[in-house]
Amino acid sequence: MNLWQEYLRPTNLSQALQAFAEASGPILPIAGGTDLLLDLEQGRHSPVHTLVDVTSIVEMTALQVRGAELFIGAALPVNRIVLDTLAGAHAQALTEACNLIAGPQVRNVATLGGNVAHALPAADGTIALLALSAQAEVAFALPKSIGTALAPSARTGVVSGASDNERSRSASTRRVPFKELFIGPGKSSLKHGQELLVGFYLPLSKANQASCFKRIMRPQGVALPIINLAIWLERTNDIISQIRIAVGPGGPTPWSGTQAEKALLGKPLNAETFHAALEALLSQVGFRSSARRASSDYRRHIVSGLFKDVLETAWGRAS
Ligand SMILES: Cc1cc2nc3c(=O)[nH]c(=O)nc-3n(C[C@H](O)[C@H](O)[C@H](O)COP(=O)(O)OP(=O)(O)OC[C@H]3O[C@@H](n4cnc5c(N)ncnc54)[C@H](O)[C@@H]3O)c2cc1C
Repeated sequence: MNLWQEYLRPTNLSQALQAFAEASGPILPIAGGTDLLLDLEQGRHSPVHTLVDVTSIVEMTALQVRGAELFIGAALPVNRIVLDTLAGAHAQALTEACNLIAGPQVRNVATLGGNVAHALPAADGTIALLALSAQAEVAFALPKSIGTALAPSARTGVVSGASDNERSRSASTRRVPFKELFIGPGKSSLKHGQELLVGFYLPLSKANQASCFKRIMRPQGVALPIINLAIWLERTNDIISQIRIAVGPGGPTPWSGTQAEKALLGKPLNAETFHAALEALLSQVGFRSSARRASSDYRRHIVSGLFKDVLETAWGRAS
């Protein structure tokens, strides 16, 4: 049985959005296919007529500094992120997360955009991006009538190589705060068959800022971890002047430990402040029991060591 009827490989954003706008049947983006193909094959996904391969779209495979931000294309295989020096310098937690996803074969094709769009609350790249305050760039097709009516300056996200005709009818992009991408386990807020993740913007890192990602995994485990945790922090005169804590799966969507962040903000890191933060984290987090990975109680038990390890590593790196 064919899993799809038509496979398109656009080379720019305009062509991809045009395919979405003109689709006559169910249409989906595909990147590495490491999640989607299994879901289609095993009947966890409704049938699809057209797959739009986004991995040749130039704008979605860039990794570069843009102004005061780092842009990471959604269609970049995670292994490219692991090896990139800019990502290493400005998004260490993300490179650490990407380096732990699956094995080398999967990492060579699995993309960061696919990791995020799949919307699992413990996806490794997703948890790192949350701690790093990412913003997503989302592209959506403009109906032809609106697209042609807009002045060129009102349209963004146009990809070089697109013809004027293509540009006039497509490619508008917007920035979305990262958390707003998620509405439930496996459910993103992206409009299926209409919207694409183009990439992610992260603030550039300063000398007194650092991040760290670690996870706990079953010894023979592939795919998602028992628990993962990412922290970004800023250290000013031995005080935590900014901090963001992300834990997966701390809730139905990628989860931020806001109470633990409050407990640490403006304080030095020592045994007393760590324990206050741990208590705050445990009182807020909503670990669930999952048959394949771990019980909620076990996750509550092991999170303390992981939290301490990640926090101390980020703190040390920011010195
Ligand atoms: C053996 C194995 C081990 C794994 N181990 C891990 C692990 O350790 N940690 C982990 O986090 N994950 C793991 N995964 C899951 C998977 O590899 C990752 O989630 C991967 O990053 C998904 O990316 P992809 O490019 O393959 O996505 P795809 O499978 O191509 O797509 C996934 C979903 O995202 C949508 N999509 C893809 N790109 C876009 C886009 N640009 N805009 C909008 N929607 C888009 C697709 O339509 C689909 O719904 C594993 C998978 C396998 C098979």
